[in-house]
Amino acid sequence: MTEQINEKLSTPKSLEAMKRFAEQYAKRTGTYFCAEPSVTAVVIEGLAKHKDDLGSPLCPCRHYEDKEAEVKDAFWNCPCIPMRERKECHCMLFLTPDNDFAGDQQTIEMEVLEEARKSMV
Ligand code: SF4
Repeated sequence: MTEQINEKLSTPKSLEAMKRFAEQYAKRTGTYFCAEPSVTAVVIEGLAKHKDDLGSPLCPCRHYEDKEAEVKDAFWNCPCIPMRERKECHCMLFLTPDNDFAGDQQTIEMEVLEEARKSMV
């Protein structure tokens, strides 16, 4: 496991935790990752970064005026309420099989995550 290489990126511990969460949650809900793995990788990195900065994996695909308040509100803590209630993930992390963008994977390689992170610094 490498050390945190840039303060813009999540720590390896959070990245690993959110990778595991995403894989387990996809299996549990019968959803699939996007056919384009870099989409999945960017969302997982965003969740991990929020977990580091805020203590909770706040959805990374939204704009917030006050992130701390949103964390307390919990609506957009992943898995968010729309996902839990209706399997709606606007980040395209968890896709139902009928979604045109859904791939056939419920796992993602750490190498793919690392590759996406390199493009984010
Ligand atoms: S839309 Fe919901 S389920 Fe999808 S990544 Fe954001 S918080 Fe998680």
